[in-house]
Amino acid sequence: MACDLPIEFATPRPRHSRQARVVWGSRSVTVGGDAPVRVQSMTNTDTADAIGTAIQVKELALAGSEMVRITVNTPEAAQAVPHIREQLDRMGIDVPLIGDFHYNGHRLLTDFPDCAQTLSKYRINPGNVGKGSKHDKQFGQMIEAAMRWNKPVRIGVNWGSLDQELLASLMDQNSLRSEPWDARQVMYEALVSSAIDSARRAEEMGMPGHQIIPSCKVSGVQDLIAVYRELARRCDYALHLGLTEAGMGAKGTVASSVALSILLQEGIGDTIRVSLTPQPGEARTQEVVVASEILQALGLRSFNPSVTACPGCGRTTSSTFQELTKQIDDFLRAQMPVWRERYPGVEKLKVAVMGCIVNGPGESKHADIGISLPGTGEAPAAPVYIDGEKNVTLRGEHIAQEFQAIVENYIEKRFGTRHTAETV
Ligand code: SF4
Repeated sequence: MACDLPIEFATPRPRHSRQARVVWGSRSVTVGGDAPVRVQSMTNTDTADAIGTAIQVKELALAGSEMVRITVNTPEAAQAVPHIREQLDRMGIDVPLIGDFHYNGHRLLTDFPDCAQTLSKYRINPGNVGKGSKHDKQFGQMIEAAMRWNKPVRIGVNWGSLDQELLASLMDQNSLRSEPWDARQVMYEALVSSAIDSARRAEEMGMPGHQIIPSCKVSGVQDLIAVYRELARRCDYALHLGLTEAGMGAKGTVASSVALSILLQEGIGDTIRVSLTPQPGEARTQEVVVASEILQALGLRSFNPSVTACPGCGRTTSSTFQELTKQIDDFLRAQMPVWRERYPGVEKLKVAVMGCIVNGPGESKHADIGISLPGTGEAPAAPVYIDGEKNVTLRGEHIAQEFQAIVENYIEKRFGTRHTAETV
């Protein structure tokens, strides 16, 4: 018997975080609140190499990274930061730089005011700001620098560098419980407490809460989900989200995707980073591609036109269908840096490239523009569907080129500003 209750659309829960603003020069990007979830990345160049670092920041920014973190670990690196900014400005790369500090950040931010002023945000790791009596003093120096230059901070806790004194203290407290937690539970508590206690201390020093963005990164998927749910439950700061040391290739991509997706669907996370280890020869920009695809797959952001393609099967006659899919996908991605300006809204375009008649026409009709290639036993013809209607049937050896031309023509007609102006 049919059920007459409507099935609700699945949508991510709204976020309830405060809104931070990351400013550089006269520009700014909002984080948290109702702002879009932002994509971040991090360079792996020697920051003291200003040119090399600026080039990689440019690559990451052009791939879609909306903030780029660079390590600031030595006086030479701190000195290079203003030069990196100058190079980026000269290249027209409009992306804020985040300084990643460990151990000596309090000194570098004091000794190199140009670096402190140039960076748009500081990452402070409470586990690496000094031990014993030095911990609070050095943490305080970094917060003072952030307030002096009006910069937001990420209180970035990582279980690989967790505050060991805090962990030992929580272990001691736990041993006194009538029913002690297990060690993993204590570790979760230490991660969350380290982030929240540090954030509260920064607020007590006068830093506004909307300038504070905590994170608690771990490398296990279930651990990350547990820790961030608790972190989000206990505070309303904007949160930076990422699975640390995710690993390489499919393993790193899948682990990051499942962990981040579950949390983002629950409204947890305001900026994300995918910490992929590049495979030999793989571009650093792959982490940006994966982060963008996660947000786009969840329907939270649109960065590039999406290409729907079937996996192919015994009905697929040749590699033509795979080649056409890749060709169209590569073509759309390659054009995006120019098209973003020229064709506003083009990132929402949906293209389908399908291998046979079974699902080809149906899937193509769901897309803005789709093609159903001939499978085994079908007549050598490829119907093209535009806005749900069959438009033309392609035949012969030049189907790929002709379909690409049809896609370009569609984009110009639908998203071209000249066309809009004429229509108006
Ligand atoms: S659309 Fe056709 S070729 Fe593609 S997977 Fe389905 S049956 Fe196979």
